Formats: sequence, structure tokens, C-alpha cells
Amino acid sequence: MKAVGLDLGGTFIKVGLVDETGRILKKKQLPTRAEEGRDRVLVQMEKGVRGVLESGTRGIGIGTPGIVDRRGFVYSAPNLPAWDNLNLKRYFEERLSLPVVVENDVNTITWGEYLFGAGKGSRCMVCITLGTGLGGGIVMEGRLLRGGEYSAVELGHIPINYKGPLCKCGNRGCIERYVGAQYITAMAKREIRRGRKSKIEEIVEGNLAKITPKIIAQAYSQGDRLSEEIWIKVGRYLGAFFSGIVNIFNPEVIVIGGGISQAGEILFSSLRSEVKNRAYALFSQGLRVVPAGLGVEAGIVSAASLILRSRNDKAGSE
Ligand SMILES: [Zn+2]
Repeated sequence: MKAVGLDLGGTFIKVGLVDETGRILKKKQLPTRAEEGRDRVLVQMEKGVRGVLESGTRGIGIGTPGIVDRRGFVYSAPNLPAWDNLNLKRYFEERLSLPVVVENDVNTITWGEYLFGAGKGSRCMVCITLGTGLGGGIVMEGRLLRGGEYSAVELGHIPINYKGPLCKCGNRGCIERYVGAQYITAMAKREIRRGRKSKIEEIVEGNLAKITPKIIAQAYSQGDRLSEEIWIKVGRYLGAFFSGIVNIFNPEVIVIGGGISQAGEILFSSLRSEVKNRAYALFSQGLRVVPAGLGVEAGIVSAASLILRSRNDKAGSE
């Protein structure tokens, strides 16, 4: 069995033909050209799909930013113009005469990690991607959790502090407001401005605007004490948050992807010990917290996985 996976990003569209073991047989990358409007993006997407399509392809899976409803409409997709009033699923089904599944990009990655990546073999799994924001998806007993409006789950907007700082979603103290990239870099800036000596400042040659989570990770690998403290703190925030998630869902595995997860073992060990201290022992004792397993082509493989196995039914029909 083969399926096409399309990973729609703000800058690039990545498309691939993927077999039932999750192997990419063919792939193509095109610029999204979102600045030229919606119709141009649709042309780019179709061009990409046709570039890898072969006879016998079972269908097309599309991972898109934004919120996706059960009909195939996409809402609130940042950087994609006029996406809200388009039934993306129907549009491509009509043009390509093949089944199309459209899914939010983080739910897509979750399903891909569950089928082919770090969550393989589990039944209950939580996946987050940690970068500018915190995105999340949950697989429970072999099904992707969708909720009443079909748009679950927004893990990044679970508050960990009821009177915490205001979040872009309108709530206060959301986990994303503590572990999103700009908030991690703000921790470093604050301490350096207070006069704290750090390798971070040397690496950016005094220009604090250049600090990124990657630079904080680099400084940590050079033995920087402030960077170590920052990663431990980020791990503790995430651990407090995950202890709640673990108590609700009792997952077997938590998969963490995205740029910030590359901070590595310092972050993971802080997170693990915080979860152990806070969650029910019965739930946390067998829990694995691991980095994502699909690598740089995760978006393509995961989008194809939407077709290769149904998100709602382990038997594979949808
Ligand atoms: Zn929020």
C-alpha cells in the first residue's frame, strides 16, 4: 500500500509517496508562496502531489497548520490567506479523484509518531512539539483524540498558574507562556541584564537580541551554569504540566519533538523527575518520556500515515 503525504508549512510544501512501513519512496519540496494568495498555494499543493503520485496510491494525507473540523475546513491557519472558507478535503478529492484526509499538523505528527516513530507499539501516547509554541496530540487506545468539535487537543493552553502572565489565547498562565521559545530566551536575557555572567552573552557577542534556545543549548554544552539552570527550570515547568496530563490519561509514552527538545538529556531528566515527584506513582512508574523518532521528514511520513491507517479505528476503515 502507498499513500501521498503532504506537509503544508508557511514557507515550504513537502510532499512524498510513502509505503505502508513508513518509508519514503519519492519526495518533492516546493515553496508555499502564501504571499501570492490562496489560489497560488492550492496550485503549489496540487503540483507537489502530482509530482509524486503513482497508480495504486490509496489516498492523500494533508497536515496543515490551524484548526481542522470534521468536514475538512481549516480555521485560524497562521500565514495562510483566506483558508477559513475552504473545504480543503473536498477541494482535493474532486480534483484528484482520491480519498483525502486533512488533519492539524501536530495531530498529524502525533499519528505518525504513533504508527512509525517513538510511540510505535504503544496504545496510549501523548506527543508534543516544542518550538515557538507548544502543540500537542493524544492517542488513546489506538485512536486519535478529537473531541466534540473535532479540533482537540490544545495542550499548549492548559494553565499551570491561575494568575500567571497573559497568553495570546486570552487565558493566563498557560504552559506555552513558560516554555515557548521567546519565553525561554527571555529568562536568559533577564538574568544577563541583572549582571549574571554567562557563556550565552559571549556567544552572541553581547547582542542579547540574538539569543535563541539553540544558543542556550550550545552554551550549556560548554558548561554554562545559567543555561543549565534554564533547562532545569523548563523541565520543571513541563514536568508539572505533564504530571496533570499523566494523571488524566495514564499514557505509556510521552513523545517530545520540535526544536527545543534538542536541548537533550538535561531537559528530559529534569522533566522526568518532576513528573515522578508529582504524578500518581502507579501512572508514572512505567512511563517513558522520549524524543520524537521520525526525524526531518516527520511531516511527510506522518501526513501519509493519516491514510495508511485510520485515526479512529484500529481496523483501518474510516
Ligand atoms: Zn494560552
